[in-house]
Amino acid sequence: MPVDPLHSAARPPRSASHPPAKGAESGAVEVRRSARRRRTVSAYREGDRTIVLIPARMSDAEERRWVKVMLERLAAQESKRMLGDAELADHAARLSEQYLGGRARPDTVRWVTNQNTRWGSCTPAEGSIRLSHRLQGMPEYVVDYVLLHELAHLLVPGHGPDFWRLLEAYPRTERARGYLEGVVAAERLPHLPAARSE
Ligand SMILES: [Zn+2]
Repeated sequence: MPVDPLHSAARPPRSASHPPAKGAESGAVEVRRSARRRRTVSAYREGDRTIVLIPARMSDAEERRWVKVMLERLAAQESKRMLGDAELADHAARLSEQYLGGRARPDTVRWVTNQNTRWGSCTPAEGSIRLSHRLQGMPEYVVDYVLLHELAHLLVPGHGPDFWRLLEAYPRTERARGYLEGVVAAERLPHLPAARSE
């Protein structure tokens, strides 16, 4: 049993391939174990693959947990590179095609900064959709969920069963709603000293 991590470098590097998570847009994930790494985990994209670097001695359970964490972290960073209005329109067209049979066709989709109590809104008469800038920096699946939600409102006003049926096909509806609820809840929590900015 290697005690000194330096010595375990002689072991062949173990790498594992994970099939992409259900609903994930990214390609395969490759985990590379490094004997030199003690505690730090990092990840980066290489083409359509995602490479996750972990310490050699990490258990399989820890590996699975960290792969999940790093994939979410990367997705959040990528979404932070803020989609422009044009990209937002592209996403809307793709989501409408994929989940609404292409029936929702907004004329304009754009970010707005004057919308602090709602994540998104739409005006069916004008065919316009507005997303709050507060979504910027959130994972792409959350932004896409809000976009799809507003697209669905172009077809069905209100939040009746007909409305939610339209969102059923999107695999991350529940998860995205949970994320947004968590953000709202976190804003109401008393601030811990460590989290306070001076
Ligand atoms: Zn709604």
